Amino acid sequence: MSQVYLDYNATAPVRPEAIEAMTRVLGQVGNPSSIHAAGRAARAVVEAARNDIAALIGGPASTVIFTGGGTEANALAVDSAVATGSRRLLISAIEHDCVIETAKASGAAVEILPVTPDGVADLDWLKARLAAWDAADGRPFVALMLANNETGVIQPVLAASEIVRAAEGWLHVDAVQAAGKIMTDSRALGADTLAVSAHKLGGPQGVGALTFGPRATMVRTQHGGGQERGRRAGTENVAGVAAFAAAARAALSEPQIDPEPRDAVAERLKAAGAVVIAEGAPRLTNTLCVSTPGWSSDLQVMALDLAGFMVSAGSACSSGKVKASPVLAAMQLDDLAGSAIRVSGGWGTTPADWAAFADAWIAAHTSFVARRRAPAA
Ligand code: PLP
Repeated sequence: MSQVYLDYNATAPVRPEAIEAMTRVLGQVGNPSSIHAAGRAARAVVEAARNDIAALIGGPASTVIFTGGGTEANALAVDSAVATGSRRLLISAIEHDCVIETAKASGAAVEILPVTPDGVADLDWLKARLAAWDAADGRPFVALMLANNETGVIQPVLAASEIVRAAEGWLHVDAVQAAGKIMTDSRALGADTLAVSAHKLGGPQGVGALTFGPRATMVRTQHGGGQERGRRAGTENVAGVAAFAAAARAALSEPQIDPEPRDAVAERLKAAGAVVIAEGAPRLTNTLCVSTPGWSSDLQVMALDLAGFMVSAGSACSSGKVKASPVLAAMQLDDLAGSAIRVSGGWGTTPADWAAFADAWIAAHTSFVARRRAPAA
């Protein structure tokens, strides 16, 4: 049976360009901090990768800090803001757990920036909240992701940045899901800090980056050596960042994913009774979040898996976790959350994969409905 992977938002398959770069660099010895020839060669690999990531996320290469993934990049931004005087953090209701949990653990007060039922941050709320800001809370810090991992909804980050800037605040943007799919230039978006992760765009897992602008001061949270200009201690993941850069270059050279095959699937599922989440909002063209009342997410994921299609029930960023999606709850869609699945394609997905997925989903749904209707034996 052929297998179709449609869970790119959990992790994307590693691109051939990234595998080539990683294996090539793994074959070369050298610590970038060493001054001999091998060390200088490793340093050259890291700095070339930094230039490529700067092209992805904006800013001079000197403002790109390599990290051990998106989680660490987000945490570095939140912790730096708290260390430099933010005592109250406004975190959007749909942020990834790594942002929300880091904020809660930081010791600062945390307030949730609500979203509309379409999953878009409520900027009127933000404006009013910042207008009433208490100076005792220090510099306002706002976390608003660029695209949501579950729904694919693209957030009005540029408009948010104007509001945050007017309040002399710090806007942090988690662009982990957006990178490689839509524009993620931190300067064009008005982000003070912006985080990305290699494995969502076809690089390896465990590699990420944070960039920061002139209004953000980075404070090291990991102590040890002076790597990354003293901002993140630890020997650089030379092969990992080379592969990250190769994946980023490949992603930047591709046209945007055509939404048509995804939208055609949505129409077919809707005809069978499914509800497309956030259908009216701007969304990443690779993501389809769809709920079928009465058919639980877990049963759907299992039935599809048996048919050879890999999708996820809500956010699958921490595997095996089965809990109601806080993202859908924030959108006041609690009724739909237990029966929602996320289908996400990417660089290796073909229109035929999407069409075959719709066939499999319809077959599984038909047999689920028939079983439910059958009289108990
Ligand atoms: N932010 C978002 C929006 C994500 O979807 C993920 C997924 O894992 C992360 C952050 C965490 O990134 P990483 O897995 O690289 O730590």
